[in-house]
Amino acid sequence: RADTAMYRIKKGGKAGMSIFRIEDQQAELDMRQALQGGELQLYFQPIVEAKSGAVSSYEALLRWNHPERGLVSPVEAIQAAEEAGLIEQVDLWVLREACFAQSILMPQERIHVNITVKSLRDPYFVELAAEVFAQTGCPPDKIEIELNETTQRLDASHILPQLVMLREWGVTFSLDDLGSGSSSGIGLLQELPVQTLKIDRALIQNASFNRVSRAMIRGVVAMADELGLSVIAEGVETAEQRELLMSLGCLKLQGYYFSRPQPLDRLRPNAGRLLQACCGE
Ligand code: C2E
Ligand code: MG
Ligand code: MG
Ligand code: MG
Repeated sequence: RADTAMYRIKKGGKAGMSIFRIEDQQAELDMRQALQGGELQLYFQPIVEAKSGAVSSYEALLRWNHPERGLVSPVEAIQAAEEAGLIEQVDLWVLREACFAQSILMPQERIHVNITVKSLRDPYFVELAAEVFAQTGCPPDKIEIELNETTQRLDASHILPQLVMLREWGVTFSLDDLGSGSSSGIGLLQELPVQTLKIDRALIQNASFNRVSRAMIRGVVAMADELGLSVIAEGVETAEQRELLMSLGCLKLQGYYFSRPQPLDRLRPNAGRLLQACCGE
């Protein structure tokens, strides 16, 4: 990394082109190494019933333990994977890992996974997903795919056939990060088979002091009721937020107030042994 930076400083100008290539190659090497060398890991955060606090499902969240840089944020990891042309491999790794966890360690629970639109545009990705369900024994109706903010800048028609196929197998979909600055997600409801609306943390944080945010949350809840969809409020950090969200009609909540994302072996103390027995990990 340091060498690459030095190279950029020394050359610059027109040589910039070749430098980008070098950095891409580095990103690609890093991400290949991450995939093969066991540097990627999934953490799981419960989504709970607002009233009882009972776990309703889990969201799988990517963690990258980079050998030099330490813990790299998933947003950056996904960006690196996209730049390295490895996003479909990473998304598939996430799906496979989540399906193994579901099948072996939490057969009663549903798991949410975040999958990029890049992958969902590709019909071949859906074929590979079918293999993952078959190999892991995870029933597709135990998986919910979260469509994140980048989704929402995209033409729905590119992903619709793939989503319809997954939906036929039982996979459900949520629109992630509704109400965040970067999202124009609600419009996609008209075109995509979506079952869940996830309200972004930013809106939840504002709700305590901003009546516009409260009105927006009520609006999402009313829309979901009319359409028979579920609503999940993300980023709930305090008892006050929980109370407020319940009063606004949100039945499912997710956030540090209930639990931070956790590695599997903390959720299921025998996880390592069970996974090794089954999948030789
Ligand atoms: P997201 O899907 O909206 O995930 C929720 C994020 O909010 C997670 O951040 C989670 O750790 C964080 N969070 C949960 N509760 C709280 C809370 O009470 N307070 C605060 N401040 N934060 C909370 P994380 O894990 O850093 O992931 C960030 C984003 O990266 C995700 O947003 C998602 O868009 C993307 N991402 C994460 N894992 C994956 C993955 O496996 N694949 C893909 N394609 N994207 C992923
Ligand atoms: Mg998500
Ligand atoms: Mg979100
Ligand atoms: Mg997000």
